[in-house]
Amino acid sequence: MTCRSCNAPLVWIKSRAGKAIPCDPAVLSVVTDEGDVVRGRVSHFATCPQAAQHRKPKQPALFPEEPT
Ligand SMILES: [Zn+2]
Repeated sequence: MTCRSCNAPLVWIKSRAGKAIPCDPAVLSVVTDEGDVVRGRVSHFATCPQAAQHRKPKQPALFPEEPT
């Protein structure tokens, strides 16, 4: 399985909610804010160089145009 955007290898991890999450294959040790060391993978959405294309710009209107 590879990313359609950047062709990076992916593994799919099923979340507790049953949703498949694309992740990078490398298993890393990370430390939680509570100080626990856990091993896990990084969501590919966080590392994909093309991630911007995964989330199509549905621009939130933060600054609505003011009538002129
Ligand atoms: Zn990618």
